[in-house]
Formats: sequence, structure tokens, C-alpha cells
Amino acid sequence: MTRPALEGLLFDGRTAAAAPVRVLIEEGSLLVTAPDGAVLHRRPLSGLQVSEPFASAPRQVTLPGGAVVEVADGAGLTTALAAAGRPATLVERLQQRWPAAAVSLLAAVALLWAGYVHGLPAAVRLIARSLPGDVERRLGEGALELLDGRLLRPSALPEAEQREAEERLAAAARLGAPGLRFQLVFRSAARGPGVNAFALPGGTIVLLDELVRRTGGDDRLVAVVGHELAHVSRHHATEALLRAAGVGAAASMLWGDFSGQAASVPAVLAMLAGSRAAEREADEEAVRFLAAAGRTARPMIEALCLLAAASAEQGDPRLPDLLSTHPDVGERLARLGAPEAACGAAAP
Ligand SMILES: [Zn+2]
Repeated sequence: MTRPALEGLLFDGRTAAAAPVRVLIEEGSLLVTAPDGAVLHRRPLSGLQVSEPFASAPRQVTLPGGAVVEVADGAGLTTALAAAGRPATLVERLQQRWPAAAVSLLAAVALLWAGYVHGLPAAVRLIARSLPGDVERRLGEGALELLDGRLLRPSALPEAEQREAEERLAAAARLGAPGLRFQLVFRSAARGPGVNAFALPGGTIVLLDELVRRTGGDDRLVAVVGHELAHVSRHHATEALLRAAGVGAAASMLWGDFSGQAASVPAVLAMLAGSRAAEREADEEAVRFLAAAGRTARPMIEALCLLAAASAEQGDPRLPDLLSTHPDVGERLARLGAPEAACGAAAP
């Protein structure tokens, strides 16, 4: 069956000139004819290369030898092809329907989002966990060096008090986290009371004087260190650093002059601000740590109460305090099976 011819322009692929032609479909072939009716091209419909159809755009048919014929009435060509038994492909038909296009777009966005939300953290976790111990320790040393110059001062705690805390914590760690490498360092906050502690990559746990002063004689310090040791064993600080600074920046901090880079200060602060998920994990781990070290969960609850009270005091706003960067204290207490009101009874 012959259908009415469509107007077209033939580009021969060698010159820029366009020649007016007619395009018609006849006996399973696409014919391109000159205005005088001479057949210029005859192509079987099967295997015909036609550009994507759009509602009101021309379509191009690719011909042998680099020639292209452009049909201004693209929709007419689509109809003619379909009538001749060459229906639009599934993709072409979907493209014509905006709900399908919208669904595809949403699916693509959802996929990208899932990749960003789940793929990136998973990749970062994998990198953080597979970094050699020496590399993590170097990152930790660099971070401490940087903090020492800016936010931290040497500890003012008497040597004996430091040794006593160290011995008690080491004894608890032998039971609660056997085999885990860590080292405690004592510092004071450059500003504010600093009832604080944090874990750096590679196992360095920084204990600030005021935390040790207020908890040194009891198991709340053991609970806080149990929490920090969980950050160490799960490489949370390295993970947070990679997330905040990116792998490239972390590498340049590692091999460049870490402490000399002012730009790395925000990265280090981000390193100390754990994610909510990491904090929950560390809280749960602290309770297990306490149990393995022969204690109840009570010191953890009391430590949270102390931190809640201390965060109300004016701390150094530049240092992420143990609480503000953590999930809400009420939520954390509830997870430990203690209502927030428990602080009233437990507070020192
Ligand atoms: Zn934490």
C-alpha cells in the first residue's frame, strides 16, 4: 500500500546543500524520490535508522554513504512507519507519554539519591575500615597537633591523677575491649570548662581535664571511655573525616603538612562530630563495654546526665561538645532504658 508522500530535505553528506525530496513508504521499503519522481534511495523498513520521534520535531532517516533525509512532518513519518508495520519501539512509545517520562525521571533521581545516601557512606565506611593502621594513626597525630595549637592546652591535672585514671581505664579496657589499641591523652580546653572527650583516628582518646576532675573517681569516666573506644574500633572519626573532607583532601592532609593547613580545621571538627547513627552505636557499645568490665549500665546513664548538665554551662563553642553533636540526651537515655527524669536522681 502506498501512502501519501511526505516532504523532505536530502543532505548528501558531502555538501551542506539540501535538496527537496519526497519520502514515501511502499511495499515494506522507504523511498526517497526527486521532485520528478526519480527514485534516489530505496531502503527496507527493517533495519532502517530513524532518529527518535518527538511530538512536533522533524525526524531524520540515515541513508547509506552518510546521506540523511530530514522529514519535517516527524509525526507523519511515525504514523506512516507504524501503518507499514514498523511500530514505535517501547522506549519511543514511553518517551511520547509524559507520565512515563516523569516516572523515569523520578526513578533516575531516586537512584541517584540512593547512591548518594547509601552508596557514598558505604564506600566511605569501606575505605575507613581498610586504611592501614599507620595511616589512621598519622591522621590522628596530625589532628591532635592541629587542635593543640588552637583549641586545646596542656593538661593541668596532677600527674598522679592522670596515672590513676589511666590505670583504671586500662583495666576496664582489658575486659571490655580486649586487644583494641588505644592511647589516652590528657588536655584542657583552651576556653570554657571542657567536660569533654573525643576519639581521633588511630585510637587516640583525648580526655579533657574537667571531665576527669568530675568523673575520675567513679565509673562515669569508664562509661565515657567505653563510648569513645567504640568510635575507635569502628573507625568513626576516620569515616567522618573522609565524609567531610573527601578522600582527596584527607590524602593531602596525610601527606602534606596537616597541622599547617588552616583549611583542615573544619575537617577536624567535622571528624569529631559523629553522626547520630555512630553515637547510638557507641552508646550501645559502651553498655556492652561496662557489662564486660563487670559494671551495670548505670554509669553510662549518669555520664549522660553529667554531660547534659555540663552542656548548659558555657563551653568552648568551637569544640563540638559531647552532647550537642550527639542525639538528644532524652532519646539516648530512653534507649538505655532510663527516662530523662532519671537525671534528677543520678546527677552529681
Ligand atoms: Zn560519641
